[in-house]
Amino acid sequence: MAYKIDKSQCIGCHTCAGVCPMGAITTTPDGKCAIDPAKCVSCGTCAAMCPVNAIKAE
Ligand code: SF4
Ligand code: SF4
Repeated sequence: MAYKIDKSQCIGCHTCAGVCPMGAITTTPDGKCAIDPAKCVSCGTCAAMCPVNAIKAE
């Protein structure tokens, strides 16, 4: 299972980046966030904390 951020829904609040225990979430040039699949351990914390439910498990 891999977690991904839907950029069309992300509002760039960066909450997810602050809660990720692996430091897997970075800010992209558009001011939104992206998950580095090489660092993500699929814990689901970011998805649980996103205020607009923009992070999906695929
Ligand atoms: S918590 Fe959700 S809305 Fe906020 S930056 Fe992360 S993906 Fe975007
Ligand atoms: S699922 Fe967990 S490890 Fe992966 S990006 Fe979200 S908070 Fe970080």
